[in-house]
Amino acid sequence: PAAEAGLYTASDQIVLLSEQNVGSVLVNSSAAMVVEFYASWCGHCISFSPIYKKLARDIKEWKPAVNMAAIDCAADENVKICMEYKIRGYPTIKFFHANSFANSLGMPYRGFSRDVRELRHMIIDSLEYPGDPWPPACPPLEPTSEAEINNFFETNTVQHLALIFEDDKSYIGREVTLDLLQFENITVRRVLDTEEHLVSKLGVTEFPSCYLYYPNGSFERLVVKFEVRTFYVYALQRLPGVVRSGKPPPVFTELLKNRTEEPWRDFNSSRVYMADLESALHYSLRVELALQSVINGQALTALKDYISVLAKYFPGRPVVMNLLKSLNTWLQNQNKGPISYEAFRERVDNTAQVPDAALPEGVRWVGCQGSQPHFRRYPCGVWTLFHVLTVQANNIGDSDPKEVLKAMRNYIHNFFGCRYCAQHFENMAREGLDVVTSLPSAVLWLWYRHNRVNNRIAGDLSEDPFFPKIQWPSPEMCPSCHTVKDNGEHSWNEAQVIPFLGSHFSSSRILTDYLE
Ligand code: FAD
Repeated sequence: PAAEAGLYTASDQIVLLSEQNVGSVLVNSSAAMVVEFYASWCGHCISFSPIYKKLARDIKEWKPAVNMAAIDCAADENVKICMEYKIRGYPTIKFFHANSFANSLGMPYRGFSRDVRELRHMIIDSLEYPGDPWPPACPPLEPTSEAEINNFFETNTVQHLALIFEDDKSYIGREVTLDLLQFENITVRRVLDTEEHLVSKLGVTEFPSCYLYYPNGSFERLVVKFEVRTFYVYALQRLPGVVRSGKPPPVFTELLKNRTEEPWRDFNSSRVYMADLESALHYSLRVELALQSVINGQALTALKDYISVLAKYFPGRPVVMNLLKSLNTWLQNQNKGPISYEAFRERVDNTAQVPDAALPEGVRWVGCQGSQPHFRRYPCGVWTLFHVLTVQANNIGDSDPKEVLKAMRNYIHNFFGCRYCAQHFENMAREGLDVVTSLPSAVLWLWYRHNRVNNRIAGDLSEDPFFPKIQWPSPEMCPSCHTVKDNGEHSWNEAQVIPFLGSHFSSSRILTDYLE
């Protein structure tokens, strides 16, 4: 479709406006809308688009209150709409408050910044513009008072009240309030440093700082590595009882009780299990690929590259490695193509009886167990497998930096059963394999893109409530991976992320529990 030909795709969490949806998206919407009117040929728009995408990821959790959209005014079918909205130059960004009328032209942002943080602040200022309708899903953003807090638990049943103490210029309290808007059992309010009685009652000396306040009047400081937005959000999202709205609170004993098919296998969520990797291989080679009765052309090349990287880098048990190597030798010799799946399968099952070579049958998920049969499992195994492979390739250190990622990309593109996932992954891969110029950058590429996926699907129906999607690893898992810039924005310390991934996915740390 034309919308996909512009600067944004469906993977960017930006509503792509068109003649068909412009009325329903901009008129009478329950969320405020930020809209970029751009032309796909305009250089400024092209250079602004990564910033706009980053902003969309950054405020993804705010969607019920404020959502983002874009429209390519250079596309023939959109010209009329852009004229109606009186667009004179590109890019133009306009803010439409909640419940805008059909004739509303929106409020243009003049001379807007190209900095995600400043854009975010500008959006908050617009939301708070006096007199404009308040989006129904938007929690209060104004500072709270001691009197209001004292009444709070009489009128509310939420478990946690988080108070962010800050000066009136700080946006952190409002940002964190919006970041947690889709979570239950927690309310976030900002308190100004001028609220003297409360400040002295809690002994607050640092601004910003965050305190948890309880119905009996007790309170405690939220302990974080840095007093900034992202660290508050990580910490608040994992307080007991805090869950995404509409999701049942995960109760571990319930999970154990309701399981009918397989017993739960205890595992350490900060470790990688060989049982998951072998299960992923079984599923990939015996179930997913079985859908292809004949494999030829581009698909055959993809399969060869996949089996080749497995034979080279999979850190498996000797019997599994013997199987992968013999499978690889056979496959690389199939020069003419096409091959039948049946012939491939015979090699996977080792009917040629290569000594000491086998891939265990069946799946036994451990670190990739889901609380229900439709959660986690195979896609979790696929991610884990490819992270392990990029890390192994980096450890061995003498190959084409893109080898594993290309094999992954082509496997996903040709065979991954979740076609919708495959399309999104292809959109990301198309955007940026060029940055991969070394083996460590391949490890980082996959980690970073996996986080983009986590960001996009956090809170979706596919999310297991027991395993919420986060920007991984959390500050608890890897404190040194996280840092802050001078302006208070969170940033990843990539120099620390690489060794963290290297250790987390390293062959020597993979646990062999639950293997047959
Ligand atoms: P997963 O995301 O599967 O991660 C597995 C494990 O890897 C985690 O438990 C964690 O230990 C670790 N991990 C988490 N993040 C990172 C990271 N950034 N770097 C390294 N390790 C990490 N689902 C959709 O609903 N929509 C999609 O578009 C979609 N696209 C997908 C594309 C691909 C290529 C794949 C393999 C899967 C896709 N999925 C998609 C499935 C989804 O990403 C998850 O795999 C699935 O929801 C199971 O999630 P999980 O909780 O087991 O964690």
